[in-house]
Amino acid sequence: MRGGASPRRTAGGRLSLRVRLRAAGLRSPGSLWSNAVTTNFHVKNMKRLLLLLLPLTAASFSVTSWAAEAWRAPSTQIDSVYSQVESLYLDLHRNPELSYHEEKTAAKIADQLRKLGYDVTTGFGGTGVVGVFKNGSGPVVMLRAELDALPVPEKTGLPYASHVTTHDDRGVEVPVMHACGHDLHMAIGIGTAALLAQNKDRWHGTFIYVGQPAEERIGGAKAMMKEGLFTRFPKPDFVFAVHDSNGLPAGKVGYTPGFSASNADSVNVTIYGVGGHGSAPQETVDPIVIAARTIVSWQTIVSREIDPQDPAVITVGTIHGGTKNNIIPDEVVMGLTVRSYNDEVRKHLLASIERIAVAESAAAGAPKKPLVEHVEGVGAVYNDPPTTTRLADRLKQVMGDSNVVIARPIMASDDFAEYRFAGVPSVMLELGAVNPEKYAEAKKTGEAIPGPHSPYFAPDREPSLKTGIEVEMAAILELMSKH
Ligand code: ZN
Ligand code: ZN
Repeated sequence: MRGGASPRRTAGGRLSLRVRLRAAGLRSPGSLWSNAVTTNFHVKNMKRLLLLLLPLTAASFSVTSWAAEAWRAPSTQIDSVYSQVESLYLDLHRNPELSYHEEKTAAKIADQLRKLGYDVTTGFGGTGVVGVFKNGSGPVVMLRAELDALPVPEKTGLPYASHVTTHDDRGVEVPVMHACGHDLHMAIGIGTAALLAQNKDRWHGTFIYVGQPAEERIGGAKAMMKEGLFTRFPKPDFVFAVHDSNGLPAGKVGYTPGFSASNADSVNVTIYGVGGHGSAPQETVDPIVIAARTIVSWQTIVSREIDPQDPAVITVGTIHGGTKNNIIPDEVVMGLTVRSYNDEVRKHLLASIERIAVAESAAAGAPKKPLVEHVEGVGAVYNDPPTTTRLADRLKQVMGDSNVVIARPIMASDDFAEYRFAGVPSVMLELGAVNPEKYAEAKKTGEAIPGPHSPYFAPDREPSLKTGIEVEMAAILELMSKH
């Protein structure tokens, strides 16, 4: 059994009372949170203590029954930090900030971590926050939570909905919402950070909470790595994260060994022609026709050039050309998103997009080669399979088999991959966030449930927060327990 609460036999083959109390999680949460919470915790503890003491005189506990049960952060401990976690969540949700502008959010996270006794660095890689908690020698585990929100108008109707608007980097007024649930991830992480500080005797090593900026613009992880996240702080042995999801009800967690989110590349292609009057095409080279042919030819990349076992997507999301019906323009600009898992497939897709664009322009007699620009790219999320399986086994012990399920990989993207590029095994788990009754109802009716990036995305607050803390505690203790 892994975990800090390995049962010890007394001379008579019975478990000591101390071990029983520890296994039940009966210890003070310390003074990290408010006195009210602590007092409440002691009242609950006393009740549990009495219940445990009653059968003690007669009981002879089987070692196997204890041995089968992994130590878990007891619900009383999660309850004891919940009100703090919830008020942080509500505050973050009401006050979202866009990528690269997460100043107030970062300050709130830094403040929470400092109060918990963490060694905190701010302004790292932009607005990033790094909180380090050293607890003797042992593994170094990093937990990543994202700081940023999205330019989405919140339409959830929740009493704590965001009404924030701001100006984006182009100076345009936009609404702001935590539509990806990053507020949930931050608050869960703070709950976990608190419980780890309270349960120092359960684990050893160094725990690092990273508040990462600008995930939605896939620049934050890169910026933190560039500034020396793995050299100026202890280099992690594992990097861990959760992401909320509308694909599972609250109370469940999904795991995907291997690829779970895709490589994502943005490519802009400008096709050049020779403009002129719409009535005299013979005097022009029409870039609209070249663009149309190019788009159709691109469809053969995935269907004819890529192994059907390797997922790949090429989508032309924008096409702009021309100003008036009777004018042939001299250029057309297209914006593509390109998705894959495998690095070889990724290279092949990008090379073929360029090859076909160049060839179609040449075939049409265009005056110059098209401009193909790779404007941004992010690597695929790859969950280290042995670590993922190890965490899933522990989670099944803690949460029950039926609450820990295999999740399908998706073609969405996340800059979490930056951490594995530095050679560190990483795992991101999918956290169910839908109200279980609504989830069951939607399964029956086939109705879509709003998910991340939707203005209607509304995680089921309490069970999502509490399950998130339970998941993080179980996973981190699995990696950092004293064996
Ligand atoms: Zn997102
Ligand atoms: Zn997200």
